[in-house]
Amino acid sequence: MLGAVEIGRQQGRASSRTAGTRRKAHGTPGEDPIAQLGPGAAILRPADAVLLQRLAGNAATTARLTDGAASVQRLDIYGRSAAQASALPAETVQAFGRLIEADDQAGALRVVVEAMTSRGQLDPRLLRTSGEGELWEIRDVDGFRAAASFRSRFADPDNAGRMLPNPRFTISSKGLSPDHLDELYESILHEYRHVEQQAERVNSTEQQAQTFGYGADPDEFDAYLSEVEFSYRRAHMQTAALQAGVHWEFLSEANRAPFKSRWAAAQKKIQRVLGKPVSEIVATPKAEAYRRQLREMERQAREAYERANGGH
Ligand SMILES: [Zn+2]
Repeated sequence: MLGAVEIGRQQGRASSRTAGTRRKAHGTPGEDPIAQLGPGAAILRPADAVLLQRLAGNAATTARLTDGAASVQRLDIYGRSAAQASALPAETVQAFGRLIEADDQAGALRVVVEAMTSRGQLDPRLLRTSGEGELWEIRDVDGFRAAASFRSRFADPDNAGRMLPNPRFTISSKGLSPDHLDELYESILHEYRHVEQQAERVNSTEQQAQTFGYGADPDEFDAYLSEVEFSYRRAHMQTAALQAGVHWEFLSEANRAPFKSRWAAAQKKIQRVLGKPVSEIVATPKAEAYRRQLREMERQAREAYERANGGH
């Protein structure tokens, strides 16, 4: 379901540069790494998936430039202070468990989303949709817990000068269990971060720098960094710190620049919570395995790019 058909369908609807068809997926290192890093890659060869993404992104960017500069309201996602979050309220946890017990996965997901929305963690306006497809889709997928994709941006009915990102979320049915409720919550926040990024992008005329592969994508660093910022439990902090720390190594100097102060603050939080510096966390075998996967994805993305730009 995450294969060529899906990506091809989204290609025609791409609404921004390279992210137009990119599925942002979220898992943790040590699960099924390849599928987790790029869900499309689980079926398409990663290089082919990236190639499709590039082509769609380039077409969308060209279309946007020929439209002329629209009046935009730019959201500064990097200026926001570190988010505070706590675990879900007890009544949400209980309702979730009851609904899963009753085999109502959609209902269980709904109570989590409602709780997060009522706490202001999800902005319902950014989650409005246009066109076909439900905002939340539960599917039986391996390798990742959640993924976000985007359809054509559309004008906010309440604010004609502003475009909305039109997201769709895929939630793995395997993660919908009381034992994994924390991870579900964290994955939703990670994917929602991509919605905020996309909301900024569809309201911007700035071109994004070309990057190769999942590792060097500043959106992913930003999403893992936001996980460090909102993290409230130690096991999650460990994972988020590892991923943010390794992604940082892959970022270009230009893409690092906007994150420097946030990353410095996040590293202090990591040190405080885990009692060790990021340098130690990225020196572990698990971090090295993650680094190797990102290097491989980078290599494949470069090859796909070279094939698309000269055929050699
Ligand atoms: Zn992501």
